[in-house]
Parts: sequence; structure tokens; C-alpha cells
Amino acid sequence: MIYRIVRCLAAAICGLVMGAYTNTLEYRLRSGMSMVEKDCHCTSCGCVLQLRDQIPLLSWLMLRGRCRNCGAPISPRYPLVEGGVMLLYLLAALLTAPRVIPVLCVGAVGILAYIAISLAVRGCFQPNRRWLSGAGMIAYYQLLIGVILTMVNIALG
Ligand SMILES: [Zn+2]
Repeated sequence: MIYRIVRCLAAAICGLVMGAYTNTLEYRLRSGMSMVEKDCHCTSCGCVLQLRDQIPLLSWLMLRGRCRNCGAPISPRYPLVEGGVMLLYLLAALLTAPRVIPVLCVGAVGILAYIAISLAVRGCFQPNRRWLSGAGMIAYYQLLIGVILTMVNIALG
């Protein structure tokens, strides 16, 4: 039982991190920014976010939904997406642990579907090279999560 809890907790933490990256990727695809060049920043004042301001869910709560530098409101959509992706990974792990591949597939499909729908609703979805490179970044991070979850499985025996 405790092994199952640890596996689900590991998947949930990975989901939180992927939720934060989902927000970043969606914003960068929408605004035409590079996906790798500029650090995460406030969309109002442009200040680079410190590490303590990038903790999924917690930073938004600690900052009470406002930028630490300029006080501009931060959309509640960000923590909602982080929590939603976390729940997606957690649910997949609850249903399939200790298998890792289903968690990765559910996570990737959920993230890509969210980004595509969000961009389509805003009228800026274009299945072009930038979109493909974004999907590639998701695949890359899913691979890393697969390694982490597999290591957790090996550690638990
Ligand atoms: Zn700001």
C-alpha cells in the first residue's frame, strides 16, 4: 500500500512540474516567443521570475495571485492548469501503477490537447514547426519523467 502511495505521489509531483511547463509552453506558442531562450518572466513588467516564484501551485498562493515585482494580477488559470495536469498524472498512476507508459501517454495527450484547445479558442492554433517543436519538448520531458518514475519503481522493488 505504501509503495502505491509513493508511486502516485511521484506521478503527482511530475504532473505539477509538467503543469507549470504546460503553462509556459502554451504562453510561448501563443505569443510567438522562443521556447528555450528567455527565462520565465512576468507578462506585465517583464521581470525574470525567481525560482521561489515558479513553484507550481504554491507560488501563486504565496503571492496571492500577484507579481512580486509589479503587483499585477496573475491569472488563476495558471494554478488551475498546474493542478489539472497534476490530477491527470495522479489519476493515471492510480489506475495503472506501477506501469509507467500509460501515465506518460495520458499526460502527453492531455497536455497537447489542452494547449491545442487553448490556442484554438484564442484563434492562434497553427500546426506548424513551432507547434511540432513544442510537441517535441513535451515528448522530451515525458521521457525524463519516464526515467524518474521507472527509478522510483526500481527503488521500491
Ligand atoms: Zn510583474
